[in-house]
Amino acid sequence: MTSRLWGPAPPPRIRGLSTGTSLAVHRAERAGGSWYLHPGATDWALRRYREFLSPPGRRPLYPREAPCSCPGCSFDDVRHARDVLDEILRELPVRARAELLRLLRPLDTTFRRRTLPDPFTHRRHWRTEFWWYRRLADPLEGP
Ligand SMILES: [Zn+2]
Repeated sequence: MTSRLWGPAPPPRIRGLSTGTSLAVHRAERAGGSWYLHPGATDWALRRYREFLSPPGRRPLYPREAPCSCPGCSFDDVRHARDVLDEILRELPVRARAELLRLLRPLDTTFRRRTLPDPFTHRRHWRTEFWWYRRLADPLEGP
């Protein structure tokens, strides 16, 4: 396989996923069809999600808005990473989806445990249909 983006070698396996599922992910990413998906987006999203959850201890964590909405900076907001994972789940064939879900479930559990529910969710409109947007966030400090 030769590709402009990856060179002659197939992309490396995504940490925590089988070779087959990693390939299914890359295939879905390359098929595009979503603003959230581009080659490497899932791997990036998983790294970002783990990184957000990595501080030891029990103090709450607060998602923070990204200062810029370009595809790179968007990952500063961990909720964007979760958006990407949600999007790739929709695109994957059944077995690959099940495997990614198994990887994601404990991360989601930790996210729920380390973040606080936002009591004012009903006053907001931005993507609040997704549970990961219904947690207390650290708003970007204004100028
Ligand atoms: Zn940017």
